[in-house]
Amino acid sequence: MIKVTVWNEGLHETLSTDVAAVYPKGIHNAIKDFLSSQPDITAGTATLKQKQCGLTQEVLDNTDVLIWWGHMAHNMVPDKVVNRVYERVLGGMGLIVLHSGHYSKIFKKLMGTTCNLNWREGDRERLWTVNPSHPIAQGVPAYINLDVEEMYGERFDIPEPDELVFLGWFAGGEVFRSGCCWQRGLGRVFYFQPGHESNPTYRNEDIQRIIINAVRWAAPQNPVQKDEGSPHVKQSPEEKYKAE
Ligand code: ZN
Repeated sequence: MIKVTVWNEGLHETLSTDVAAVYPKGIHNAIKDFLSSQPDITAGTATLKQKQCGLTQEVLDNTDVLIWWGHMAHNMVPDKVVNRVYERVLGGMGLIVLHSGHYSKIFKKLMGTTCNLNWREGDRERLWTVNPSHPIAQGVPAYINLDVEEMYGERFDIPEPDELVFLGWFAGGEVFRSGCCWQRGLGRVFYFQPGHESNPTYRNEDIQRIIINAVRWAAPQNPVQKDEGSPHVKQSPEEKYKAE
């Protein structure tokens, strides 16, 4: 079983009746519900309001893949929590950063760039699968039409992705690298652009398929490692070999 924790700020849903109408149980539970329908995935949630943002060491030690949705309160996530997530990613935990999570502390720390982009609400998106042989694109059509989605446009200030899987085109004319993969340490990171809080994007079955695929892709292949620093090797392998 792949153990997923869906982290959500959880503020828009309580502050806006429009958002609450789209996601009455919160974005985190909407994502958790479709992930939980998969036989090989077990999903839990964590939110900003919980102690330590719900991301204690114990929770992270029991998480194979962390999904991150945040927008208006990135700075309310303590650095201590961010560093804990960061260490776990470097050790092999998968991380899927959704939509406005591009500005989260954890994503910016992992990227090392500003992660700036251009944006405009209320556009229409055609999301193109530009790498159909990638594991995250399995079962996904050549393109997906999202009738209402927030425009995120280039230039997106990120390091060159190891793999680009999806490219967004917007009716206003902009394009965006909407589905990007990186490896950081032993961990796999996927950024996925669709998912503005007032749009029902996470109810779209093709979008759900992509996130499910991303969970399987990002899941660690080996047990997640603890940081053991840079040890001094007193005896070389060759010396050891000769002594045997
Ligand atoms: Zn948004």
